[in-house]
Amino acid sequence: MAGRTGKVEEVYGAKLRDFTTIGIGGAAERMIFPRSLQEVQEILKMEREEGREVRFLGAGSNLLVYDGGVRGTVLCLKKNMGKMLFSAGGSVVAEGGTMLPRFAVLCALSGLSGSEELAGIPGTVGGAMSMNAGAYGRFIGEIAEWVEIVDAEGRLHRLVAHNIGFAYREAALPVRGVIARVGFRLAPGVPDEVFARMKTLNEKRRATQPWGERTFGSTFRNPPNEKAGRLLEQAGMKGAREGDALFSEKHANFLINTGRATSAEALRLIVRGREQVRVMAGIDLALEVKLWGDFDA
Ligand SMILES: Cc1cc2nc3c(=O)[nH]c(=O)nc-3n(C[C@H](O)[C@H](O)[C@H](O)COP(=O)(O)OP(=O)(O)OC[C@H]3O[C@@H](n4cnc5c(N)ncnc54)[C@H](O)[C@@H]3O)c2cc1C
Repeated sequence: MAGRTGKVEEVYGAKLRDFTTIGIGGAAERMIFPRSLQEVQEILKMEREEGREVRFLGAGSNLLVYDGGVRGTVLCLKKNMGKMLFSAGGSVVAEGGTMLPRFAVLCALSGLSGSEELAGIPGTVGGAMSMNAGAYGRFIGEIAEWVEIVDAEGRLHRLVAHNIGFAYREAALPVRGVIARVGFRLAPGVPDEVFARMKTLNEKRRATQPWGERTFGSTFRNPPNEKAGRLLEQAGMKGAREGDALFSEKHANFLINTGRATSAEALRLIVRGREQVRVMAGIDLALEVKLWGDFDA
């Protein structure tokens, strides 16, 4: 496929298990790795004209992909769209594929504070903005000034962040499409102090969550005034497994791939966990992880 900027980088039949942190998932019919905003616009316009379905992929850290794979095109920003631009007054612009840990470290090195809580989230700026990811009392939506989205026709929209309704793990984006770039405003900070806070929070994370495991992080969202992990634990799901899929012994809301877990095993464990919590507490847990593919087939 050729764009105005030359041939775009594309792969047919790539296994999505290599692009998700849990290491599960079949082939994507086609994957494209755009290098610029202009390429993103051209690709989406062309895919719309050709009538192909398009999905957006960041770091695959909040995804469970079906072993049968997905049809259509997967647009992945992580590989080639991770550039950042720093300007005076705490303004930072990051492309949608920028990894949050790198974002936080570069902000700290530039004497900026406000993103250290996000340093331990292994996702991209685009993926995080799409669901208002957050940790330790900080949500990414709070530090954003504007969000640039390319819609299905390839049109670029710049949205002012304070007009977007952000809530726990939710961003009510009025335009559907790929988050290509985000503008942030951060406060001045002393690098040593910012790094010290980052270190403290990362140590806290290591102490309470599985570390270095293949996982997609939290399986379920926390219900109001409750913790999904605590409910799963009380329902006896800590350490429960289906094949190679396991609810972590350290944090029951983290589903881990201990070997060659299949998407069916992971889904069976999720369904079991939800059912046990419903029976025990009468609470319907909502999924935080996103599912891709034909799980009903
Ligand atoms: C060990 C671990 C710890 C975690 N800790 C946290 C935590 O503390 N807090 C938290 O909130 N999350 C946490 N997560 C979950 C995950 O990292 C976040 O949800 C992250 O924001 C997902 O970003 P991603 O780039 O990986 O998105 P992906 O998993 O690639 O995609 C997730 C969803 O976002 C969409 N998406 C991705 N990129 C874009 C884009 N550019 N434009 C539009 N839509 C897009 C996808 O289509 C998909 O629907 C954790 C995950 C792991 C594995």
